[in-house]
Amino acid sequence: MAVSAENERPVKVLGWAARDSSGLLSPFEFSRRVKREQDVTVKVLYCGICHSDLHNVKNEWGFMSYPMVPGHEIAGVITEVGTKVTKFKVGDRVGVGCMIGSCHNCVNCGDNLENYCPEMVPVYGGKFSPDNDSEDSNGTINYGGFSEIMVVDEHFVFKFPNNMPLDGGAPLLCAGITVYSPLRYYGLDKPGMHIGVVGLGGLGHVAVKFAKAMGLRVTVISTSPSKKEEAMNHLGADAFLVSQDAEQMQLAMGTMNGIIDTASAMHAFLPLIGLLKTHGKLVMVGLTDKPLELLAMPLLLGRKIVGGSVVGGIKETQEMIDFAAEHGIIADIEVIPMDYVNTAMERLAKGDVRYRFVIDIGNSLKSY
Ligand code: NAP
Ligand code: ZN
Ligand code: ZN
Repeated sequence: MAVSAENERPVKVLGWAARDSSGLLSPFEFSRRVKREQDVTVKVLYCGICHSDLHNVKNEWGFMSYPMVPGHEIAGVITEVGTKVTKFKVGDRVGVGCMIGSCHNCVNCGDNLENYCPEMVPVYGGKFSPDNDSEDSNGTINYGGFSEIMVVDEHFVFKFPNNMPLDGGAPLLCAGITVYSPLRYYGLDKPGMHIGVVGLGGLGHVAVKFAKAMGLRVTVISTSPSKKEEAMNHLGADAFLVSQDAEQMQLAMGTMNGIIDTASAMHAFLPLIGLLKTHGKLVMVGLTDKPLELLAMPLLLGRKIVGGSVVGGIKETQEMIDFAAEHGIIADIEVIPMDYVNTAMERLAKGDVRYRFVIDIGNSLKSY
């Protein structure tokens, strides 16, 4: 009799999975691969809930298969190390982010850009490829961090500095690197530059923190006037624009060197290009499922650039974590028990979170 995918690997694990595109999560037993020479086993203590998890449990981008265990902002402690592990020892505080494998041979891997490797293995939802020598070759679907343990090649594991809490630090593994990487890559990191952050959610609020730590002037561009007070007085933004307020937007035209757009749904795009100075860069990191409205003329008049970015490579992610620790940056979080996850997903869909849900996996994931 054929062995079901979730039982193909021998290490039994409890997690929470969505079974269909309703996105409803419930307890799920599955198994992880046997630890190999370069693997570490991580006891998961905390896992953030990213809006991508919400898109994915509902299969909004169309490439998920079920059951799927979400979670890619994973923080915990190492409980076992393989014989060839050199970076870690048992007891180390670590993180695992969006990917757990890549080919290690392509140009992107050579440039420490595993996130752009054609064979990048996402932490959940993807399949371990038979051709990918860094991972299992059984072709079964892998499962994410809403679970007790992870078994991961040490290359894809990050060290948490001693002064960084695991709960507030966990969201940096996706939200943090997703905004840090484009600030660096697009050169929007020079003190005195003025950048806009579209969407004050999980990604947006850490974008404000990183940008301020880099010495930038930061304007939040939001659909939620109620977030102004917190953006300016708590997160340290210098200005706040309500995107539907044409007068406010008009006054800010041509003032920004760059914009990091983290909005999770369709929104007007041309006004953002108008906010840019000559040579300004609009970087999309938020994922919408509809085509963007784009005209050539506003780009030509000002040599403006529209770009994109997806998380970051392993080396840069560790650099981001160390930068965050040095500058005291963590996410503002609401810690929740595992069995609150479906309510948390509903609240996230409505934008009702300040600013990231983090599941207390260590204390609340148990058999029901
Ligand atoms: P989030 O916490 O839900 O924040 C998204 C924010 O977008 C909301 O707080 C809201 O901010 C704004 N927004 C929501 N609906 C909007 C609309 N219709 N028009 C304009 N703005 C709207 O989500 P997140 O976890 O930060 O993720 C944001 C997006 O980034 C998601 O699409 C996610 O899938 C994507 N993402 C991409 C990467 C990558 O590597 N590129 C990595 C992680 C996540 P205001 O209330 O301030 O308007
Ligand atoms: Zn994410
Ligand atoms: Zn590669």
